Amino acid sequence: MALVETVRGPVDVAALGTTLMHEHVFVLNEEVRQNYPAGWNEDDRVDDAISKLNALARRGCQTIADPTVLGLGRDIGRIKRVAAGTDLNIIVATGLYTYNELPLYFRFRFPHSDGRDPMTDMFVTDITDGIADTGVKAAFLKCAIDDQGMTPGVERVLRAVARAHAQTGAPITVHTHPHSGTGRDVLRVLKEEGTDLTKVVLGHSGDSTDLGYLTELADAGCLLGMDRFGLDLITSFEDRIGTVAALCERGYAESMVLSHDASCYIDWFAPEAIPMFAPAWHYEHIFDQVLPALAERGVTAAHIQAMLVDNPRRYFSGS
Ligand SMILES: [Zn+2]
Repeated sequence: MALVETVRGPVDVAALGTTLMHEHVFVLNEEVRQNYPAGWNEDDRVDDAISKLNALARRGCQTIADPTVLGLGRDIGRIKRVAAGTDLNIIVATGLYTYNELPLYFRFRFPHSDGRDPMTDMFVTDITDGIADTGVKAAFLKCAIDDQGMTPGVERVLRAVARAHAQTGAPITVHTHPHSGTGRDVLRVLKEEGTDLTKVVLGHSGDSTDLGYLTELADAGCLLGMDRFGLDLITSFEDRIGTVAALCERGYAESMVLSHDASCYIDWFAPEAIPMFAPAWHYEHIFDQVLPALAERGVTAAHIQAMLVDNPRRYFSGS
């Protein structure tokens, strides 16, 4: 029996069930929140998260993977309070989210002369011993590359993530910017690091409709994160659906996972703005609109089972 760590402790991967592979609970700038607390009520926000996750659970979702790491305001104490109010499994991550430079904390903590990076040790500790004093262990690794490409800071984080993966077996999720082809840059570095590419989700691949690019990455062994359903401003609903359906038709259902990249609360935007610019960007959109639309395009129940259940289970097996 393979086990995966969740906020409430280890769970048999066979019991993960329907899994959304990229959903945040909270995305916050903690320094801003602590210094400008107007508008933030901790109890209200925790209660709101519990009610949104319970609504998602009622739609048949059993697990979310939350890739909120340093740079996105990770606070596992807060997530534990949320997890205590819902039956949904929440899998948390370790890693660092930057599109370019490192936080100064890391900039002046250089890799050791033997090449070992203290950043890697921090990630490994989160996976093997637990995060801070919460008793919660991270079960996957997260980093990012965006339209600025493979900057020195981004490359250092990616290699630290790859080495933490090599030491622990924990799988990897990378925020990519497919419109600048950064999935290819990620693969180049991960191949140099000897990473098992079947344990890698190239996040936000679903922002692309370029089947040549997507099949190239899938053929390398990666999972494609079709994980921004509801962010239709970037890529339209029709394009997102059409791309997943076309890839299923070509035999790539085993190479995709589905999600929204939504949050219960994200401080990047004024709360009232989100329903205006992205009304479908919430946890239930896949169940309400996406799955019926995929079925209309010929995506079968077996394809859906692969993308929502079997592929996540395989990704988290053996970590
Ligand atoms: Zn995200």
